Amino acid sequence: MSIEQTKCLIIGSGPAGYTAAIYASRANLSPILYTGKEPGGQLTITNDVENYPGYPDGIIGPQMMEDFKNQALKFGTDIRYEMISKVDFSGGVHKIYTETDHEIHADTVIIATGASARWLGLESEQKLMSKGVSACAVCDGFFFRGQEVAIVGAGDTAAEESTYLSKMCKKVHLLVRRDEMRASKIMQDRVLAAENIEIHWNTTTDEILGEDKVEGVRIKNTITGATEILPVSGFFVAIGHKPNTELFEGWLDMDENKYLITKPGRSFTNIEGVFAAGDAQDHIYRQAVTAAGSGCMAALDAERYLAEKGII
Ligand code: NDP
Repeated sequence: MSIEQTKCLIIGSGPAGYTAAIYASRANLSPILYTGKEPGGQLTITNDVENYPGYPDGIIGPQMMEDFKNQALKFGTDIRYEMISKVDFSGGVHKIYTETDHEIHADTVIIATGASARWLGLESEQKLMSKGVSACAVCDGFFFRGQEVAIVGAGDTAAEESTYLSKMCKKVHLLVRRDEMRASKIMQDRVLAAENIEIHWNTTTDEILGEDKVEGVRIKNTITGATEILPVSGFFVAIGHKPNTELFEGWLDMDENKYLITKPGRSFTNIEGVFAAGDAQDHIYRQAVTAAGSGCMAALDAERYLAEKGII
């Protein structure tokens, strides 16, 4: 099979990937975008998005990603619904292989493979996803204002998100599986100081209750074995995220949690011509709008790199 050449190859189809595609297309880079196995990314498992500027009445996540995609298509992005299975960043031109063994040589690569929330793995969690089950308090907490919610986790994210939820919800139940939290002391102190957060120590989640929406959660004390039903209408999972970066191991610098390391304030990775954007390199903000912003940065960085190299 012949080898395809491109000036710009984008991997990932969340807000970062599509924004990079819009900018790269409008800069005449004729980008090729590979969507990966979850076209549209994490927003496709979200319901209403109310915090993305420009949508005053909110929009549902999958529709928003359809809009992003159509905007990229309008400017000529070549979108392909396939996975990349291997990369080779050893030379000046970057080699990319698809799962059907198609080989592409790219002058620049923009990585926007995102991250995936870790889930408990309960069937009820899957069933009630976006129907009261969420992995993002900042995105969805507002829908539960004045209501009772539960959140599972014991790290900085769980501490931060339970504090965030406590400001709008009537009551927050924090479900901690051990008798201590791993969150930093200062964040734990904030949790302890909030009067409407009740911490349930040594507690696991047995089942999330409800058919079409969350109506409660059955929790279990791991020491006594006692179960209890909490009357919550929202259930937040904050047990960590996993960046989708396995493909780049051995090529790109990553932190201890496998997030790609980019030059501060820029999208450059440690390999010339390879740029990273969105949640694959951001474990702090993780918002659609910040991902989109970094996708724009990556496309501008790629365009300038190509100009400096005399390729465009
Ligand atoms: P972490 O990996 O730090 O913590 C995950 C937590 O989830 C752990 O406490 C773990 O429990 C718990 N957990 C895992 N699996 C289960 C399960 N099946 N059931 C119940 N609980 C479970 O992830 P975070 O998202 O909290 O943080 C990721 C990184 O981001 C960290 O480095 C953190 O410091 C950083 N961060 C920093 C923030 C800030 O500085 N403002 C804000 C948010 C995150 P156990 O402890 O028992 O293993």
